Amino acid sequence: MLALESATVRFGKRTALDAVDLEVADHEIVCVLGPSGSGKSTLLRAVAGLRPLDGGRVLLDGVDQAAVPVHRRGVGLMFQDHQLFPHQDVAANVAFGLRMHGVPRAEREGRASELLDLVGLPGAGRRAVAALSGGEQQRVALARALAPRPKLLMLDEPLGQLDRSLRERLVVELRSLFGRLGTTVLAVTHDQGEAFALADRVVVMRDGAITQSGTPLDVWQRPASAFVARFLGFDN
Ligand code: ATP
Ligand code: MG
Repeated sequence: MLALESATVRFGKRTALDAVDLEVADHEIVCVLGPSGSGKSTLLRAVAGLRPLDGGRVLLDGVDQAAVPVHRRGVGLMFQDHQLFPHQDVAANVAFGLRMHGVPRAEREGRASELLDLVGLPGAGRRAVAALSGGEQQRVALARALAPRPKLLMLDEPLGQLDRSLRERLVVELRSLFGRLGTTVLAVTHDQGEAFALADRVVVMRDGAITQSGTPLDVWQRPASAFVARFLGFDN
């Protein structure tokens, strides 16, 4: 599905992504963990095409994406601050991307209502976004990211704004939702509990590079370095 080959991004003298190699298989859920500034968001932005590479390649289904514009890549990206439109209702927010993809109005409305069912907000289409709770807004943002049926869904701290108990519940729901839809997911978090509950595979980043990749159990039982062990909190 997705392959990064030696993907490199620099901001001036700072190397935010340092020759990263990463493969994500169809239907796989990969969580990227790492401290602030380690390059997690840059990785997602590079795959989405929001940030051009300074070296290396991004391939989707074997096709080099260098010349493929953002809206043609078939990837969905949900940002941490989910950037909903507060002056529009829930359905309009969910259907937003579909208009750009040329989906006719009747189908947009049908799909929005289907997706709201999926994320556990049935019948919420006419509600005002501003009147929703944080967790409900996060679900709307997720429905919006899923609406164009992306081959690859990328989530940047999808549950970042929420309190722990809601996050723990949502993460279980998300895993089952992605399983049912067969969505391939690349998600960023700096909460290892969230990553371990959501992911088939965990990737740990440090200073723009991948320092370990493995199943949650692997990484948990055999951290590859003192850095990973410390990051997982094993030193306290
Ligand atoms: P966080 O957990 O805080 O979101 P992150 O792992 O997502 O961190 P990135 O946002 O990918 O980190 O940033 C990686 C490095 O690149 C950081 O050193 C950051 O300061 C730098 N960087 C990111 N975006 C820019 C930018 N637009 N201009 C300059 N430097 C940037
Ligand atoms: Mg980030």
